[in-house]
Amino acid sequence: MRSCGAVALIDRIVRPRPGTPAPATGRPWQRNRPLGAPIGPLALIFSAKWTTAHRARYAAIVVTRISARRDRTRQLLLGELGRRGALTRTQLAAATGLSPSATAAGVADLLADGLMSEDDATRDAAVPRRGRRSTQLTLARPSGHVIGIDFGHMHVRVAVADTTAAVLAEAERSLDVDQRASAAIAAAADIIHELLGKAGVDRGQVLCVAAGVPGPLDRDRKVVSSPTILRSWIDLPAADELSRRLGLPVIIDNDADMGALGEKRYGAGRDYDDLVLLTLGTGIGGGIISGGRILHGFVGMAGELGHTTVSPTGNPCGCGNQGCLEKHASATAVVAMGRMMGLGDHLTSEAVYKLAAGGDEKAKAVFTAMGQALGTALATLVNIFNFPLYLLSGGMLPAWDLFAPTMMDEVRRRSFVFRNTPTRIDKATLGNEAGLYGAAYLPYEKHF
Ligand SMILES: [Zn+2]
Repeated sequence: MRSCGAVALIDRIVRPRPGTPAPATGRPWQRNRPLGAPIGPLALIFSAKWTTAHRARYAAIVVTRISARRDRTRQLLLGELGRRGALTRTQLAAATGLSPSATAAGVADLLADGLMSEDDATRDAAVPRRGRRSTQLTLARPSGHVIGIDFGHMHVRVAVADTTAAVLAEAERSLDVDQRASAAIAAAADIIHELLGKAGVDRGQVLCVAAGVPGPLDRDRKVVSSPTILRSWIDLPAADELSRRLGLPVIIDNDADMGALGEKRYGAGRDYDDLVLLTLGTGIGGGIISGGRILHGFVGMAGELGHTTVSPTGNPCGCGNQGCLEKHASATAVVAMGRMMGLGDHLTSEAVYKLAAGGDEKAKAVFTAMGQALGTALATLVNIFNFPLYLLSGGMLPAWDLFAPTMMDEVRRRSFVFRNTPTRIDKATLGNEAGLYGAAYLPYEKHF
C-alpha cells in the first residue's frame, strides 16, 4: 500500500540524501573531526584501550546522533511552517528556538530537498528593507491530488481537489449515513470512481483520501467510539475498508475538526492560531484549533461542543444527556421548536426560517431561543479558552440575522471575558467546502 503524500514527505525529511555530508551541527567534538580523535571530555575514554569494535560502536552512535539532530531540526522547521503558514528565517528562528545559523543551515537543506519554498516578501511594507532581503518561507506542496469525503448524517459528498484545495470535481448522494455505514462507504467508493474519470485524474496521482465523519473518533483505533452516536459505525474500520475498496491510502477524522482546520488554513481563521468552529446542521459539531493544530484530547473525542449542556432539564439527547446544545440550536431543534409552537406538522428548518423572515412572531421566537442556546454555550467557551475567534458554519447560517442578535446579547451578558476582550464571533467563510479544505491539509497536520 502506498503511503499518504505527507508520509512520503516525511520519508524524504528523515532520509538523508545520497552523498550528503553530515551537517555541521552539534558540539565541536561531533563536528569536522575524524572519528576516534581524542577531543574534550571524550579524551578520557579515548585514552583507554580502544579496539576496532569500540571504534565501530562509537561511529554508529555518533552518526545516529548527528542524523537524529538533523531530523529534529528539519521537523522543527517544517512543523512551525505547517502551523503558521509563512515565516521569514528570523521569525522561524524565534519560533523554533534554533540559532540563526542552525535555522539558515536547516532552511538551505530543506530548500535543496524541495520541501520548502521561498517567496520574495519585501513588497510587504511591514517588512523593513534592511540588510539582507527578507523572504517568506512556506511548505512546498507535493504535486498530485487529494480526495475529500464528507459523511453528513444524511448525505455523502465527495470532491477531488489538487493540493492547493482547488476543487476539480464533486458530487453528492442522499443516504441515511448514521444507520447505514457500509452503504455509505460503498457509495463514497462509487462516487470516487466516477469523479476521477470526470476530473481526468489518474488514480496514481491521488496522494491521499481524507474522510470526515460526524461523530467522535477513537484516534488509536481509528473507529467511531461513542456507543450512542452513529451506531452503525461503531467499531467499523471505515478507513481500512475504504482503502481496501479504493486501493488508496485513507485517513479519517471528525468532520468538524476538518472544517475547523480548513477555516484555519484557507478561510476566516487564516490569521489566527486559536479558534473554535461550531457547525450548525442536522446536529452541531465542534472543532477546536489550538496553537494552529486540532485539539484532539487524549482519545480523540475533544470538541463535542454540540453535546455541552445549555439547559439542565432540557430535551433528551441521543448521547444520553439532556438539554444538549444541538437539541436547542440545530436544524433539527428548529423544526422541533417550530412544531411545539404550532407552526405545522411537516416542517423543515427552511420553512421556519421563511416564516420568521416574513415576520411570523412564533417563528421568530424559535430563532430567539436558538440564539439564547448558542450564546449560553459560546459564553462558556469564551470563558474557558479566551481564544480570539469563534466561527459558526453549516446549513443554519443563512438565519444568522434572526438568531445572532440574541446570541451576542447572551454572550455579552454571561461572559466577562467576552466583555473585556476584543473576542470575535463571526460567520465561517468556506461553507460546505471547509471540510474538504481541511481534508486537503490533513495529510500535513497528521505529521507535524
Ligand atoms: Zn447530546
